[in-house]
Order: sequence, then C-alpha cells, then structure tokens
Amino acid sequence: MMTDHAPPAPLIVIGGGLAGLSAALRLAESGVRVLVLEAGDEVGGRARSMTVDGEPLDRGFQSLFTAYPATSRMLRDIGLVRHDLVAFDRGAVVHDGSGWSRMGMSAGGTLGFRWFTRGDVLRLGRLAAELAAAPDDALLWGDEAAEDTAGYLVRRGFSARAIEGFFRPLFGVITADRGLQSDAGYFRFLMKMLLRGRAVVPVEGHGMISRWAAARIEQLGGEVRTGGAVSGIRLAPDDRGLATGVRLGDGSEITCAGLVVAGGARASRALLADVDRQAARALDLEARGVTALAYALDASFHSGRTLVLNGAPADGGVRVDLVCQESNLLRPGMGEGARLLAVGVHGDDGPPDPEQLDRAMAKLAGEWNPGFPWQRAARLEAVVVHDDAQFAVPPGVRADLPDAATGVGNVFLAGDFTAHPSVEGAVGSGERAAAVAGRWWDTHVSAGH
Ligand SMILES: Cc1cc2nc3c(=O)[nH]c(=O)nc-3n(C[C@H](O)[C@H](O)[C@H](O)COP(=O)(O)OP(=O)(O)OC[C@H]3O[C@@H](n4cnc5c(N)ncnc54)[C@H](O)[C@@H]3O)c2cc1C
Repeated sequence: MMTDHAPPAPLIVIGGGLAGLSAALRLAESGVRVLVLEAGDEVGGRARSMTVDGEPLDRGFQSLFTAYPATSRMLRDIGLVRHDLVAFDRGAVVHDGSGWSRMGMSAGGTLGFRWFTRGDVLRLGRLAAELAAAPDDALLWGDEAAEDTAGYLVRRGFSARAIEGFFRPLFGVITADRGLQSDAGYFRFLMKMLLRGRAVVPVEGHGMISRWAAARIEQLGGEVRTGGAVSGIRLAPDDRGLATGVRLGDGSEITCAGLVVAGGARASRALLADVDRQAARALDLEARGVTALAYALDASFHSGRTLVLNGAPADGGVRVDLVCQESNLLRPGMGEGARLLAVGVHGDDGPPDPEQLDRAMAKLAGEWNPGFPWQRAARLEAVVVHDDAQFAVPPGVRADLPDAATGVGNVFLAGDFTAHPSVEGAVGSGERAAAVAGRWWDTHVSAGH
C-alpha cells in the first residue's frame, strides 16, 4: 500500500563497538530505523580480531563469561550458540618464577594450588557461596564498591601468597590493573561470573560477535556503515535544542531523528563537548592500557585451552603478564603451526617498548619451556598497543558514570563507560540505551508516521 509518508530520518548510532551494536540490535528488533556509523574499516571496536598467518587471532587476550547476562542474550539473538563458543580450561596455570601450579575452580582444584593455604581454600569457598547467593546488582553496588580489591582481599583474610600467586596475576590481567586498585564491588561481580560459568572465546575470535551482530541488524532492516568518522553533532537552533544530524569527516551531513553516542569514552567525550558538557566531563576517565604481541609459531608452545599467567614478583622491568596460545581455541586443528598472544599490562609509565616486551617474552619462553626453540620457531607478526583498553575503576568512579540519558532529549549514551569496563558493561549499556532511545522514537517519531 502506498502512503504519503517518507520514511522517518534514522536513529543514528555513532560507533560500531559492542555497545553501539547492542543498542542498534535492540532498536532494530523493536522496529526503529537504525543507522550505525563506524569510523573504522570494520565493526567491533576494542573487541575486533585480526588475521595472523591466514588464521584469526584476537588483538589482545580477551574472553567473555557465559554468565554475563546481557552478553548471553545478545549472543543468542544474533545466532552465536554454544557450539560457536570455545571454553577455556577452568582456572589458570601460573608460573611464579620458580615453578608451575594449576588453579582449578573445583574444591579439589583449589586445594591443589600451591599458593593457597587450607585457610585460603575455606575463604574462597565461603566467598563463592556468598557470591552465588547475591544478585549481580547487589555485588556491583554493595558496600564493597567503596574499597579497593587489594584491601578487600586482605580484609577477607586471604594470605599474601594467595593474593600474589593467584588474585594479582589473574585479576591484574582481567582488569588491566596489577595494583588491584579496582573497586571490590566490580571484583566480586567478575569473581561471580568466573565461578558461575565458563570463560569462552568465539571460534573465529571476538570479532565474530560484532560481525554477526552487524549482519543481524541489517537483516532486521538496519544499516551499518564503516569507514567514516562522525566529526560533530548538529543541534537545532530552536530552544528545544534537539540533535538534528551528524557531520562526517568529509564535510557531508546526515539527518537523524535521534542519536546514540557509543564511540568509546574518549571519542564520545569529544562529540559531547558542545552538546552536554556535564556528560562530557563525566567521561574524563583514566585509561588502563595493554600491549599485545602476536606470534606465529612453527611448533606448539603449550597444549590445552589454557591461560598461562606470570605470577613472578614485579622487578620494575618490562614484563609479559599473560601468554595464551589462542590457536588451541580458535579454529582448533586448522592451519600449520600455532598462534600465540603475549600480553603486558601497562604500568604508570605507559606502553612498554615492543622490542623489550619481545625480549621479555623470549626470556620467559626459555624459563617456562626450556626445550622450546623460541628464537627459531617464533615470528613476531603484530604489535597491538591499546592505550585505552579499559578505564580505571578505583572506588567511587563507577558511582559517577553517566547513564543512558543526556541533557539533550534525543541524544543517548551507550558504552562500557556507563557501567564497567568489560564486554558485559558495553553490551548491557547498549540494551539500556536502546530502551530509552526506543521510548523516544515511539513517542516522538513513530507517533507522527
Ligand atoms: C586488549 C583488551 C582485552 C580486553 N579483555 C576483556 C576481557 O577479557 N573481558 C571483558 O569483558 N572485557 C575485556 N576488554 C574490554 C572490552 O573489550 C570493552 O569494554 C568493550 O569492547 C567496549 O566496547 P564499547 O562499544 O563500549 O567501546 P569500543 O569497543 O571502544 O567501541 C567504540 C567504537 O566507536 C568507534 N568510534 C569512535 N569514534 C567514532 C566516531 N567519531 N565516529 C564513528 N565511530 C567512532 C570506534 O572505532 C569503535 O569501533 C578488553 C579490552 C581490550 C582492549
């Protein structure tokens, strides 16, 4: 049937990371005309993957927990099901400079962990029971959000050996925070996710999630455009001051019915500077960085779907904190040789010199696997520096994060920066932004068409 109405201007989502795609997916599902504008050549943002030696590899070690609620909903709704997700072995393997220990997550597994006393095993059991019984929000927003993780672990009675041998190496890489300064509410939430489900990676790497999400959005009638950064937001000159469109780097403009700003904290802050100064100020977040070295190996360095953590005390030098032979998980059995990620968490001095990090990896390889011909078998294929891998969440920071609404009626925010610095923080924030933006659309746009 012909109607007199032209289609409404789209609701534009700026940024095709997990937050923007999550928002766009939910909006498209509810019938909103959605257009995602992504600056990069592909979607995915910080959770993109790359290709090394013809095979997929993540741009830094990254895993998601099957217990992440919003992420699980998104994976299900884009069709990424359990058999597309490969689980890491439970727990982790830690080397403390003198020897190995494997930390399992069962009671027996924790007992066998050499840096845990019997008291630590009991304390971990008590903590696990407490976390299992508490709703996620109560964990994130309980009194513990006011203290840091290091202080919290001491207060719970964990021994220095348990903290140095397990919590610091593991949570130091999960949160890019070897000082364990993140608030303990966030630690308790992550610990529950770790205990309740499995840590997994999509079989084609994390980039698979955003590629499939973009395909689903397009199937639902939305559009995803890559390769063009939004350079500014155009506001109506009238006293309602609503957003009417965006400017692109090439000077062109696109009219919109509303906007979801999902460009990551730094870019979103710049875009909001002339739109909502208060929201922009709230995005002035301290960033934590990691550098990842990607190697192609002629032979396998380690077996299993294992995280190998460096639990040796810091000596002030450049160090590799985590090693993962990701080809044991991604497309297992495919291709020749192996692909390995070595990751160093940045200290206060910023990113390490990649050559020094490469030398630190060669030295670790000699200590961890003396028979392995690292110099001959390993080729450094890529160096990926993430200055803004995650924002820092010392106590108090999360309480001041902006929510989805801004001071402009039709501009909304999505990004891990509205919640916590994780895949779940990003995907959950997209759901919340879609809920408020969808209500705006229903009231102000659909009603007129
Ligand atoms: C190396 C690494 C490891 C990590 N490990 C984990 C992990 O194990 N578990 C976990 O839960 N989380 C992990 N994280 C965190 C997680 O990846 C992020 O929290 C999440 O991906 C953030 O998604 P986002 O959409 O909020 O932001 P981003 O991914 O930053 O997306 C923002 C997007 O906006 C685009 N953009 C920016 N400016 C513009 C503009 N002007 N116009 C158009 N587009 C623009 C960017 O190109 C980008 O694609 C890790 C992050 C990194 C970097």
